[in-house]
This record gives sequence, C-alpha cells and structure tokens, in this order.
Amino acid sequence: MYHWGIDMGGTKIEGVIIRKEPKLEILQRIRVGTEQEFGYDHVLGQFKKLVTLLREKSGLQPSHIGVGTPGTIDSVSKVIKNSNTQCIVGKPMVGDLQELLDCRITMANDANCFAMAEASLGIVPDYLQNPEVVFGVIMGTGVGSGVVVNGKVINGRHGIAGEWGHNRLAEEGPMCYCGHDACVETFISGPACQSHYKDLTGQSIPMAEIYRRYLLGEPEATQTVQRLVKYFGKAVAIVINLIDPDAIVLGGGLGNLDVLYNEGKEEVKKHLFNKSLETLFLKPKLGDSAGVIGAALL
Ligand SMILES: [Zn+2]
Repeated sequence: MYHWGIDMGGTKIEGVIIRKEPKLEILQRIRVGTEQEFGYDHVLGQFKKLVTLLREKSGLQPSHIGVGTPGTIDSVSKVIKNSNTQCIVGKPMVGDLQELLDCRITMANDANCFAMAEASLGIVPDYLQNPEVVFGVIMGTGVGSGVVVNGKVINGRHGIAGEWGHNRLAEEGPMCYCGHDACVETFISGPACQSHYKDLTGQSIPMAEIYRRYLLGEPEATQTVQRLVKYFGKAVAIVINLIDPDAIVLGGGLGNLDVLYNEGKEEVKKHLFNKSLETLFLKPKLGDSAGVIGAALL
C-alpha cells in the first residue's frame, strides 16, 4: 500500500510516495518552489505540477493525499489560519486542492505531521510499542507541537489542539506575533534565547553559538541557557500534568540541545504533580523528512 504526502513550506513544496511495510521506504521524492509571491492560485498550480510529476515518475494514481501546512485549518470554517505563509490564510485550501487534484485531501498543521511521523515511524517505536500518547514539539524559530493519541493526531474543536507554544507562561513577558504576550514561544524558541542574550551582551549571534559559549562556561550564555531550561521545565510540566504523554519528541534546532534532556528534565520534575518522571524525552530520528512523511500518514 502506498501513501502520498505533501509538505508545504514557505519556500518549497515537497511531495513523497512512501510504503510503510515491511519497513519505511520512500519511493519518490520531488520538490517544487512554493513561489508564494505570485499568490494563492499560483501556489495551487505548484501543487498540481508536483502531483503530475509524482504520477508520471511512479506510474501511480493517488486516491488520497495528506498535506502538511504551516498554520492550522479551522475545524468549523475549514479555512487556513495562523499561517506565516500569508497567501493561503483565509483560503478553503482543502476543497480547492480536492477539486484540482481530483482526490481526497487530508490536511494538518506541520507540527502535527512531525509528531505523527516520529510517533509511528520515527524514534518512538524504537522505545515503545503502541504508546497511548505522544507529544511532538518543534522548538525552532517558533514553538509548534502536536498530540498523537493511539496513533492519531488530535485536531480539536478549533483545530488548535497542541498549540501549546501560545500558552501564557508568565504574568508578563515579550510580545508574541499572535497578539498575546508571555507565550511559551517567547521564552523557549531560538529567537527568544537570542534576544535575551542580546539584552545581556549587545551581540546578535545564532543559538548554536550561544550554546557553544555556554559549554565553554561564558556567564551570559550560561544565564541564557539557564533561563531556557527554567521556562522549558515550567512549560513541559503543564503538558505532562494535562495529557501525561508516554514520550515527548523534541525537534527543531533547540531539540538538539543535550541540556534539555538532563537539566531540562530535572526542571520539569520541580513542577510535576508526581514524585518521579518516567516520560521519555527523545530526539527525533527522521530529520527534515518528518514533516512530509507525517503528511503521508494522514
Ligand atoms: Zn503567541
């Protein structure tokens, strides 16, 4: 059985055809530009081009395609919202793609796709068989996350299930693009750390460099990473108290930082409604492909 998946980003649209059994196999992988500057209809045309190429190369016809997008699909109105790819906001993209590509389309947020892929074909199965709840987080430029329960992504009434990056974490804090302040994202994303480090030193440097300086013991970098760890602990404890996942997969640039898996985990314990912390904290396995593989699994 073949699964078709498309992952739409701000600059490229990637499509795959995969087989899950007996082990994950990517049969085709094609990328085209998103070219969002030419508008919504043009972006739809790029989808059409991509699917035509996949059809030609594979000789297969899809009956169902999973699509991962930045932003969320409103459960009621079915239009896209909260997307940094502006030209698709407010558009009934599922219906439009169904008509254009002549097959069933299931669409989900890209962090949900990431969570789905790592939960079913990525790192989680290396540790657990049939986990009940998996929480997948992308900690990078922003903080996105998805909840997978018994192998299925939870979307929720508004389509925002898992959007924990926009929970308020403190009484006051930096403004967030979403219009609120003190969101989780404004404390534990890459830009949040970079801006804190800049406040301390006047220097704008990448997160990887801040982390390198932290490992060398630089005081300002240490303070920045300790702040990240503090808020990470507080934010993740809320998730565990609420849905108690079997595993948490930390993706994105910051998901690579070892400090989150030891000191970060210790910090979570301080806020937890339980004496011990048995949740697995895992680094993802599928890398850049997680999004598109997750889309194919929709
Ligand atoms: Zn926010």
